[in-house]
Amino acid sequence: MSQLLSVIVPCYNEEESLPFFYQRIQQVAAKLKEKHQLEMECLFVDDGSKDKTLTLLRQYSQENPMMKYISFSRNFGKEAAIYAGLEHSQGDYVAMLDADLQDPPELLDEMYEAIVNEGYDCVATRRVTRKGEPPIRSFFARLFYRLMNKISQVDMVDGARDYRLMTRQMVDSILSLKEYSRFSKGIFGWVGYQTKWLEYENVERVAGETKWSFWKLFKYSIDGIVAFSTFPLDIAAFIGVLLCLAAFVFVIVLFVQTLAFGNPVSGYPSTLCIILFIGGVQLLTIGILGKYLAKTYLETKKRPIYIAKEVVTHETISKNQ
Ligand code: UDP
Ligand code: MG
Repeated sequence: MSQLLSVIVPCYNEEESLPFFYQRIQQVAAKLKEKHQLEMECLFVDDGSKDKTLTLLRQYSQENPMMKYISFSRNFGKEAAIYAGLEHSQGDYVAMLDADLQDPPELLDEMYEAIVNEGYDCVATRRVTRKGEPPIRSFFARLFYRLMNKISQVDMVDGARDYRLMTRQMVDSILSLKEYSRFSKGIFGWVGYQTKWLEYENVERVAGETKWSFWKLFKYSIDGIVAFSTFPLDIAAFIGVLLCLAAFVFVIVLFVQTLAFGNPVSGYPSTLCIILFIGGVQLLTIGILGKYLAKTYLETKKRPIYIAKEVVTHETISKNQ
């Protein structure tokens, strides 16, 4: 029996790149079928696009039964789109790639071979260059990965993309993590399994613009840290202990000084500095605490990760017939 590969494609306002993607993925599908007898289903996830993305997806699914789609009721973000795709995928193997062709679909062949012939559970990709990216963005990205690897237990590879091919077993493990704040790069590392890394040069998006502003990326990295490390809380506690010790030493010094030299009233500026410093540290640590508390609050609400307005997959098609 031939095996099935599910390809998940999150799309947010991708009307410009989708026609290119559609063409390329069909070529790759034909090649995989011929070479490995591997069937493909393509699961597009329209993440509340405001342009003609959904119209295109409807058209593709009518033209080609291999093309399926899920459409969200609003923009839920790429993480939610990936989750929805994984949930609806039927394949024995599942790949996820961007609609802008920054993840060359031709690599799927090599990735599939590595899983089947070399016994890996997952083949992931990383960019060796960050060509075409603003230097400031590369700098912060590198800093983030260095920090993350130090303060969390999960392994995160610098330049790793979300582009990967996984076995059904690994996909099921990922789906068993039901958390609301999803940080895929951490989740992939957390579930473990044998991963092979393929390297390739950065490719610029074929059309349209990146959906990630610097601010969005910054917030995303903070989410990642909060989701996969409690180290900031340890720092907060550590600073608290340090300040207590300093205060203790200061009290002793003052005490001895008063006994030895009397009590000259002075030190207004230093008092002010200390008050400001301690006030600042307190607010910072409360802020850190608040971050974790806010995440806990969101998790306890147990809201769905996404809301689908339209689902066109195998089952829905056969149900309507
Ligand atoms: N994307 C999404 N929802 C979002 C933002 C992005 O589904 O809210 C999709 C987007 O359509 C693309 C992929 O995620 O297929 C990667 O986005 P983009 O190319 O903008 O990011 P970059 O490659 O610059 O990191
Ligand atoms: Mg891109």
